[in-house]
Amino acid sequence: MTGRVYPDPPPFGAPKFAKTEKNVFAARTMSASLPRIRILATGGTIAGAQTGDRARGYRAGAFSVEALIAAVPQLAALAALEVEPVAAIGSQDMDDATWLRLAARTQAAADDSAITGVVITHGTDTMEETAFFLNLVVRTAKPIVLVGAMRPATAMSADGPMNLYNAVAVAADPAAVGRGALVVANDEIHFAREITKTNTTQVGTFRSGHRGLAGLVNNGRLHLYGPPVRRHTTASEFTLAGISALPRVDIIYAHAGMDRKLIDAAVQAGARGLVLAGVGDGNAGSLALRAAAEAAAAGIAVVRSSRTGGGVVERNIETDDDTSGFIAADELNPQKSRVLLMLGLTCTADPRVLQEYFFSY
Ligand code: ASP
Repeated sequence: MTGRVYPDPPPFGAPKFAKTEKNVFAARTMSASLPRIRILATGGTIAGAQTGDRARGYRAGAFSVEALIAAVPQLAALAALEVEPVAAIGSQDMDDATWLRLAARTQAAADDSAITGVVITHGTDTMEETAFFLNLVVRTAKPIVLVGAMRPATAMSADGPMNLYNAVAVAADPAAVGRGALVVANDEIHFAREITKTNTTQVGTFRSGHRGLAGLVNNGRLHLYGPPVRRHTTASEFTLAGISALPRVDIIYAHAGMDRKLIDAAVQAGARGLVLAGVGDGNAGSLALRAAAEAAAAGIAVVRSSRTGGGVVERNIETDDDTSGFIAADELNPQKSRVLLMLGLTCTADPRVLQEYFFSY
């Protein structure tokens, strides 16, 4: 890909008055009465640059968050901002090690008594997984708000600036306290547990199908709905204390004509847990289910989720979970089931206890 050299800052169009970045930050830190928000940067399309003026291709994480902030001077009236880089990746490259580092940095920010809330800039592809992970491992009632964009910073009608502005507004608002990790996009506020990405390119890609939105945010004004229903953050039992690696959990996508080979390969690869992205109500053909039952008998946790994108996977409907030792995913989609199973496996391999986690989180 032939790169283009981008000026830094600003990607979204020049601020209305000339200020150096340094001055902007100095001015913000002097406004002692404003809430203080720490922005943890991980990359994504929100910081992405097209490879040319009209190019459809772009590189995620090309801009610094300072450049993004400098392009939204209205942020200065909302909050005093601090920026900490954690990664500069497209979120398709998000991995366990980065999750562990990000969780530690989020916890450190939340534990800082000067900080009102945390904003995390992140790619949209795996944002729901990171949000759910943080929702389960960070002990704080302070707002943790993930934000991204579907259009790169250099695109016509980029969605990043308003998303960032709204995310900071949510993180700074006392009404957002105690709601776990949130995602702000397209004027909507989503709970980490409920959100999923549903469209490859549209700015309205995120949906919270089962239990609905956490609220709306219009130009920084919040309209919050009910609280989250399941355990999170301060009420979570999962801790990363002493954990330097997470157990391997693989997702197996079910389909017509499925055999057992991918399940056997995952077991061979050392998986301690498997999530079946099952057809329909978490189903799979008999060859695959036999392999999954053998894995469960060997002590590997097997969760039945669904590839349908909605609905509850209940126990013992078309599959005898009791006999096979399987776990039903309840409302969690396969990628979020994987997150919960990874954390659950840091505590136990007992499928009955793991099943309770899926009913509680
Ligand atoms: N691939 C990008 C990412 O997840 C897409 C985006 O941010 O919208 O980082």
